[in-house]
Amino acid sequence: MDGLMMDVPLTVPYLLDRAGRYFPDVEVVSRRPDRSVARSSYAEVRSRAHQLAGGLARLGVGRGDRVATLGWNHAGHLEAYFGVPMMGGVLHTLNPRLSAEDLAYVVNHADDSVLLVDDVLLPVLERFHSQVSLKHVVVWGDGTKVPPGMIGYEELLAPEPGEFAVPRLDEREAACMCYTSGTTGRPKGVVYSHRAIVLHSLASAMTDGLAIGQREVLCPVVPMFHVNGWGLPFTATLVGCKQVLPGPHLDPESLLELYVAEGVTLSAGVPTIWLGILQALDRQPDRWKLGPVRMVVGGSAAPESLIRGLDRHGLRVVHAWGMTEMTPLGTVSWLKRSLEQLPEDQWYAYRAKQGLPAPLVETRVVGMTGEAPWDGRSAGELEVRGPWVASGYYQAPEHADQWSEDGWFRTGDVATIDPEGYVKITDRTKDLVKSGGEWISSVELENALMGHPAVAEAAVIAAKHPTWDERPVAVVVLKEGGSATAEELRAFLEPRFAKFWLPDQFVFTSEIPHTAAGKFQKTTLRHQYGGILTGQPPPGG
Ligand code: ADP
Repeated sequence: MDGLMMDVPLTVPYLLDRAGRYFPDVEVVSRRPDRSVARSSYAEVRSRAHQLAGGLARLGVGRGDRVATLGWNHAGHLEAYFGVPMMGGVLHTLNPRLSAEDLAYVVNHADDSVLLVDDVLLPVLERFHSQVSLKHVVVWGDGTKVPPGMIGYEELLAPEPGEFAVPRLDEREAACMCYTSGTTGRPKGVVYSHRAIVLHSLASAMTDGLAIGQREVLCPVVPMFHVNGWGLPFTATLVGCKQVLPGPHLDPESLLELYVAEGVTLSAGVPTIWLGILQALDRQPDRWKLGPVRMVVGGSAAPESLIRGLDRHGLRVVHAWGMTEMTPLGTVSWLKRSLEQLPEDQWYAYRAKQGLPAPLVETRVVGMTGEAPWDGRSAGELEVRGPWVASGYYQAPEHADQWSEDGWFRTGDVATIDPEGYVKITDRTKDLVKSGGEWISSVELENALMGHPAVAEAAVIAAKHPTWDERPVAVVVLKEGGSATAEELRAFLEPRFAKFWLPDQFVFTSEIPHTAAGKFQKTTLRHQYGGILTGQPPPGG
């Protein structure tokens, strides 16, 4: 039919062009490893992203070539978020907390040609450099720690001030890629198209997405190497809001100081970060003079006690669920207007759910006998579909069975959907405790335990059992100065759960290991405590 709309490609450089034009003076603040604060602006980030694109072209990076980054959150990393896709390259963010073996694997698998690395992360590169064949390494920092054979970032940018001639990009071309952190087997690569990133940014910005507009001051604590910092650097640039990039210091006190100094209104990270912040605020409620701050919590379930606790300090949790395979936004838990009529105390049960699918995302739960009804009880595997959901892994056809025949992605999460359409994740399929043919949700037990006033963190794992196959064991870290016995914790859980759900054992420890993305490392815990009920020592331990 004629008279149709223009076919303007949805591409990443547009986001920065808009910010550079309409919000040139809005700040992009970075805290350096030495804690000093550097100030840039969208005009500067835009012109430096162009210079970076020019520099990479001179190094021989061509269309579709992969450019890796190994960096914390800072303005240089933001320049790479745009400079690489702008010249037709593919930005591949590396997670410095991965093992050297996994880092070498993903760099080789993605065939990265150039790496941009923070000078403070050079020791991480050293651990796998000899196992990969990078053509060039470019070093971010003050230029004083550039090893021989590597290029200083400013040196790469220097010779070409001004505009890079951006090629005509197709919206279906690759802009970025990330690997899953490999908690189940080898890391798997996910490739994000320009179109997916632009649409994801629009949906994230929506009021019923993460509600991000130009008035916000956004501090993504989620690292820029974890699913594109949940897409937040792109969304923030699209709307032109101030960005506060916290660098490597992510302890509660450093973050709270930065929030106050820069007037942060919106932040985002995994629950472990917010559990730490909550403890710091509970200890010294008057130390930090915060304005109203919203916190996007995702990556693992936000316990209801965390949402209530932060509310007490005027910090509002926005609970969201997503995955590397989903760019990552899947669902967000906002209260429907009709539900606001419920007593306020009941709101929390909804806010602790993972919520409603973001616009353009579809969700369904598939059980043994087909699609599960929306009754809030029937559990099955959560499946998703949408324009920013991966249609396959990068060069890994062996995982094609994670997509259903009718084109939905099988998430590996177990969920229910309630009559209002709210998704509730009850576990990951591999973390469920299968006790005597019944399923016990490790997540629900953990969230309840973390509501106990003496508990800082709690992880529940399946331990082998001679009669029941598996039984839950809780690994608990108590708060500083807190005390609780196994009997007290069991009595605390008793009124909320069926008797057979109660953990057989409580193990008290000083620390729960976390994955590269800040989640409980259940594989390690299973290794350590999986044999505790049968008296088997950990293999090799
Ligand atoms: P990895 O698989 O390496 O942990 P991802 O960041 O892609 O990397 O993890 C996605 C998974 O994290 C989801 O499948 C889900 O199990 C979990 N997850 C993310 N957000 C939430 C949330 N709000 N509540 C519960 N689980 C979550």
